[in-house]
Amino acid sequence: MSIYWNRRTRGLSPYVPGEQPQQRKFIKLNTNENPYPPSPLVIEAIHQAATDSLRLYPDPACTELRQAIADKYGIKPEQVFAGNGSDEVLACAFASLFMPVTDKADTTVLETSGRSRYDACPILFPDITYSFYPVYADLWSVPYRTIPLTEDFAINGEAYKIPSGGVVIANPNAPTGQALSREDILSLVQFQEDDNNRVVIVDEAYIDFATIPGVESVVSHIPDHPNLLVIHTLSKSASLAGLRVGFAMGNEELIMGLCRIRDSFNSYTLDRLALAGATAAILDSPYYEAMNKRVIATRERVAAALIAMGIEVIPSSANFVFIRSPEKTGATFFSALRDRGILVRHFDKPRIGDYLRVSMGTDAEMDVFQEQCREIIMKPAPQNAQGIL
Ligand SMILES: *Cc1c(COP(=O)(O)O)cnc(C)c1O
Repeated sequence: MSIYWNRRTRGLSPYVPGEQPQQRKFIKLNTNENPYPPSPLVIEAIHQAATDSLRLYPDPACTELRQAIADKYGIKPEQVFAGNGSDEVLACAFASLFMPVTDKADTTVLETSGRSRYDACPILFPDITYSFYPVYADLWSVPYRTIPLTEDFAINGEAYKIPSGGVVIANPNAPTGQALSREDILSLVQFQEDDNNRVVIVDEAYIDFATIPGVESVVSHIPDHPNLLVIHTLSKSASLAGLRVGFAMGNEELIMGLCRIRDSFNSYTLDRLALAGATAAILDSPYYEAMNKRVIATRERVAAALIAMGIEVIPSSANFVFIRSPEKTGATFFSALRDRGILVRHFDKPRIGDYLRVSMGTDAEMDVFQEQCREIIMKPAPQNAQGIL
């Protein structure tokens, strides 16, 4: 706490990103980065953009990138918003599309000003999901309610068909890797449109790794649903976490809302190098499809090996698996792996404290991971005279 912080700053509980070790060399399986390099065309495009032109501001409209995205997904450039990572895109979406309420008085003002009685309703997202959602909601004073995942960590799509201030769903979900079918997503989008006039954000950060039939992107349904905002990132499936590019796709009016927020704090969120690299990545789908097939194959192989060891593995549609050892607590398993040079993600939270999220590395890295898991599991728990761990 500082006396110089304002009330907003004091009240924040910021998101804590996964560790990015700068010193010790770890096998890094903790932040869902892609183990393979970006397309060579991306590197070439960034090199070509590194010229004297860097003295000039970049294109604030991200024209070329948005055109490439629009062409790839069969929508219009006006239906695309690009930002500095999908985290920034999500921040703009929460700020522009969800209703803030700071106290009871505001609720009354809303109700008496002739606006929908749903304006003050909380937005909905799962109790276990991307932990940035509650952070953005708090930052923008948007009330929210969490809906519990089912016993087996699935999102219950039906539970989101209630009056709300809007819905946010990560599909596939993080950190569980579970996914809803396109049909289930569209059904709740339709409910929120018809009965409620509220926006549904579908965060498809991991959709390119989904293989279950029926689990697909809802991008092609944007023309049918004015309240649907789909968010993608180049960080995971395009191996560009270091470039920071994400984008939202939705009805033109939604996109204009996001632009109004962005242009109220920074009109140039994507620099010239990021624009060049991101555009090249979008244009090189064949490279990424082949690469992500490898990630998917690794996931299936690792999941089967872990299950054979007696480890619980939640079926995953993403580039990570969510696992639990029958004997070790999440904290113990995490520390044992860390001591052996393997970094995974542990969330010390209700319901998932005994699970670890393990991003897919290369096959060689995952062989080491499996070997270390085997050793950790075989090893009897250390006990002292009192039998305390
Ligand atoms: C990684 C991730 C993001 C953030 O992606 P960036 O584009 O790197 O900011 C957003 N949503 C989910 C569900 C993620 O897992």
